[in-house]
Amino acid sequence: EPDDVRGKVVFKEVEFSYDGKRKALNGIDLNIKAGETVAFVGHTGSGKSTIANLICRFYDATSGSVEIDDIPIKHLKLESLRQQVSIVLQDTFIFSGTIMENIRFGRPGASDEEVQRAAEAVGANLFINKLKDGYHTEVEERGNVLSVGERQLLSFARALLANPRILILDEATASIDTVTEVNIQKALKTLLAGRTAIIVAHRLSTIREADSIIVLDHGNIIEQGSHEEL
Ligand code: ATP
Ligand code: MG
Repeated sequence: EPDDVRGKVVFKEVEFSYDGKRKALNGIDLNIKAGETVAFVGHTGSGKSTIANLICRFYDATSGSVEIDDIPIKHLKLESLRQQVSIVLQDTFIFSGTIMENIRFGRPGASDEEVQRAAEAVGANLFINKLKDGYHTEVEERGNVLSVGERQLLSFARALLANPRILILDEATASIDTVTEVNIQKALKTLLAGRTAIIVAHRLSTIREADSIIVLDHGNIIEQGSHEEL
């Protein structure tokens, strides 16, 4: 669990352009409460990943400000920001090494037991224990030892271990079977508990579970509300 309930994310009139010409974000105002789960939806190119990129400070806003707990993130040390914010990307990052090492990447000092506890919490232990060498099974960056769903669960275990106050998830678009879908949904609940979550959502179940849904279009917020409201 995070140490406390902080993790408020605010966007104030945020504009952003990748090329200095076309605006990817067009004056975005956002107020995400600590502990809330917000789902971003919208057509391809609408600006969903750009919002995630700015919170992680992979880029700086062209104008306006992005704030975490009332502090503009451009005033935070990157190290402090990295401790507070974790991102789980669409295309899960797996490197050559063991399953154990891949999960431990979330928190390099974690013990084997802590890694296993994180994997159990998200149900990843079920597939890991079936692998030839369990947690010591070697996986390859581009290898196909793991299915899309398994890679997601592994990345959830990694993120749980990192225990960020704010979690950003760019959900995989790849189709997964119903059983995996249910497992991922359960794992996601565990992962999101007690933290702020910003999800670029593709799955209906994720959208339904979110506290708030924000619809983007061409870098603008065009709708906002709960699943029932929209
Ligand atoms: P998708 O659903 O396809 O992932 P998205 O909503 O995440 O789309 P963004 O990636 O935020 O969309 O893109 C917003 C706009 O910025 C688009 O017009 C896109 O072409 C542009 N864009 C995104 N990344 C870059 C980049 N690295 N360099 C230049 N332009 C970019
Ligand atoms: Mg995207």
